[in-house]
Amino acid sequence: MTGLYRDSAVVLRTWKLGEADRILSLMTRGNGKIRCVAKGARKTQSRFGGRTEAGAHLQVQMYRGRGDLDTLTQVESIEQHGALRTDLELFARASSMLEAVDAVAQEREPNERLYTMLHRALATVATSESHLVVAGFFLKLLSSEGFAPSVESCVGCGATSDLSHLSVADGGVSCRGCRLGSPVSVEALALLQLALGGQLGAVLNQPASPATREVDIASTRFLENMLERRLRSASVLEQA
Ligand SMILES: [Zn+2]
Repeated sequence: MTGLYRDSAVVLRTWKLGEADRILSLMTRGNGKIRCVAKGARKTQSRFGGRTEAGAHLQVQMYRGRGDLDTLTQVESIEQHGALRTDLELFARASSMLEAVDAVAQEREPNERLYTMLHRALATVATSESHLVVAGFFLKLLSSEGFAPSVESCVGCGATSDLSHLSVADGGVSCRGCRLGSPVSVEALALLQLALGGQLGAVLNQPASPATREVDIASTRFLENMLERRLRSASVLEQA
């Protein structure tokens, strides 16, 4: 259906188009992932101002024509997250979440849950000291996509005690007998169990430690593994 519509959106990434235009990939509340063109967005006098940067949270009005790209006609800022633009570390954390959502979200397939998770996590990254916001976000994303790591029992034999290793390829923890993957500390495993057991809030409050670092790395590896598997299954579907 062609015509004007309004939505709220987070800018996932941007590309240059021609001399002055910009293409945006947006995660919208009501329309899923949308690619649109912001005409003149790179001119100094642009009516979009500097509001169409990656990570920005916007109220948008767009025109849907017959092509793949919608056209951005109006923009208002909801949150600009200025800290994300001035702090390199925060920017890197935000970028990894934006990339993950860009890879997971389907074009024009509404996913309000994913939109809400993303804009809340961006606000948390911009305002909190927590080192595990991105890890928490990745674990939630894995769960919502049906790829949550198994952390309560051994993926090899089902044992629930003496869990000592973590294997991305096997999808979770293993016991001392099975030894799949690499060693995981008791502290990091406890944090993973809390986060995946619905107590992410408690995990976000943890001060930085070797265990939070382990959780950070593990959640990134599990996410990368999911994205690769999805990319592979998508290419198989395309060939069929
Ligand atoms: Zn086992």
